[in-house]
Amino acid sequence: MLEVIIIIIISVTIYRRVQRRKQEGESGGSQPAVTTAARPQQRMRNTPAKNAIQEAREDGNNTTAYLMEKAAADAKEHAREKREEQKRLYETRGGLAVAERYLPENEIPRGKKCVICGYCGAENLIPVSPGTRYSCYFCREPL
Ligand SMILES: [Zn+2]
Repeated sequence: MLEVIIIIIISVTIYRRVQRRKQEGESGGSQPAVTTAARPQQRMRNTPAKNAIQEAREDGNNTTAYLMEKAAADAKEHAREKREEQKRLYETRGGLAVAERYLPENEIPRGKKCVICGYCGAENLIPVSPGTRYSCYFCREPL
C-alpha cells in the first residue's frame, strides 16, 4: 500500500514538472542552455526517475527526493525478489519455466500462443517458439 502511495506521489511530481516545462517554453526557460549541453551523456543515461530525483534535490525538495529515492530502491528490491522467486520455481520444476495464465477476455499477445494443460485443463500462454520448456501456471505439470 505504501508503495502505491509513493508511486502516486512520484507520478504527480513528474507530471507537474512536465507541465511546468511546457509552460516555460523552450526559449523562456529559467535553466541556462549550457547546463543541459554540458552533460548530455548523463542526461541520456539517467532514467526519468533518476532525473526527477536529481531535479527535486536541485530545487531543494529534499524530502521529495528522499521519498523518490526510497521508492526507486523499493522497486529495485521488489524486482530482485521477483527474479529470485522465478529462479527458485525454475529450479524446483526441473528447469521448466512457468507459463503465464491466459484470461479468455484478453487477446492472445503477438508471439504467444494458448496451450491447454493436459493435466488440469488450464489455459496457459507461452511463446510461439519457446526456447525452453514450460510448465502449467496452475498445476505446474509440464506442457
Ligand atoms: Zn495444469
